[in-house]
Amino acid sequence: MVEPVRDPDPAVVAANLARIRDEVGPDVEILVAGKYVPAEGLGALAEAGVTLIGENRLQDLEAKRERWGDTFTWDFIGALQSRKVDDLIGQVRLIHSVASDSALRRLERFSDTGAEVLIQVDVAGEASKSGFSAGELSDVLDRCPVRVGGLMTMPPAVADPEASRPHFARLRELAEAHGLARLSMGTSQDYRVAAEEGATIIRLGSALFASRE
Ligand SMILES: *Cc1c(COP(=O)(O)O)cnc(C)c1O
Repeated sequence: MVEPVRDPDPAVVAANLARIRDEVGPDVEILVAGKYVPAEGLGALAEAGVTLIGENRLQDLEAKRERWGDTFTWDFIGALQSRKVDDLIGQVRLIHSVASDSALRRLERFSDTGAEVLIQVDVAGEASKSGFSAGELSDVLDRCPVRVGGLMTMPPAVADPEASRPHFARLRELAEAHGLARLSMGTSQDYRVAAEEGATIIRLGSALFASRE
């Protein structure tokens, strides 16, 4: 986890964004993980050309949306907790992180809302990670009360981004097998590999704020 960035430098973010855009090509959405930046700092991100923010916590999402509204598209990338779903639905374009049976149950009342979610799959098969196993996916897709637009994964932290490649390839195969269009995969450590393996959304934090001197 990097330090919070109170006051991001728009020039640094814009330069990083341009380089990353160049690396991943025009078709991959670049989502910026908002957890590093307080509400006041988001103006610098807008200035740098960021358009899509993902928040992990409902209270951060609400505070930032209140301040910045339609300046950004908002997604949710955190754990779906009870009660919060009510407030979340309608505020975000996409929930990336439906990772448990309890999350599926919490979505039950929202089948008529047009809400769209991604199912989080633990393709690395790590007991400690959140997400459904690949083997559970068909059943989860049958049971999910709201529209499933695609899949998301969060592979283990690795020193070598190539270590994530098989997990991303597996997620793409699963999405293709089920006719799902969106693939949210790749973070600062491995977004290039994720893009090569077909990511449609990469989720970046640290890579965007680091200055390269
Ligand atoms: C913070 C976060 C990211 C981005 O992480 P970085 O390593 O800083 O790029 C991506 N996905 C989720 C779910 C996150 O919480």
